[in-house]
Amino acid sequence: MITTELIMESIKYGDLSEIEQKLVETAINSRAQAYANYSKFKVGAAALDENKNIHRGCNIESADYTLTTHAEMLAIDNLILSGAKTLNAIAIALSSEHGNPTPCGLCRQKMTEFGSEKTQIICVNLNERGEIKDVFKTYLGALLPFAFSKESLNS
Ligand SMILES: [Zn+2]
Repeated sequence: MITTELIMESIKYGDLSEIEQKLVETAINSRAQAYANYSKFKVGAAALDENKNIHRGCNIESADYTLTTHAEMLAIDNLILSGAKTLNAIAIALSSEHGNPTPCGLCRQKMTEFGSEKTQIICVNLNERGEIKDVFKTYLGALLPFAFSKESLNS
């Protein structure tokens, strides 16, 4: 049986590498820019490219809901806009009473387009004051195994 413990490693912030900590801090800071007037569910993201540059994202909602941009999507869009090509890692910051905040299925698929099975995903759960409550590390291959990708189109 696959359990959460197998794919989501709980880790202390202080045990993250320097660049991972920077990624987490950027995701938390980006969350402050979220436009989440309808759900009140603010999310920040920070994407690390192949040159160790960091690209920011936050969720941006729309009154019709269907036009909502997810924080991870915006961070990846900004990575591509910069001219970078590869998503090496991404940090996501949100506040949830649920213990293991993870990217939604749409974002996992978008990560697959520019990342790999080894793309690191760092999920940060904040308390109501915006302070780090929990940090989890996983990788894209664990969250979206057998993903549909550009290789899938080759017949
Ligand atoms: Zn999403």
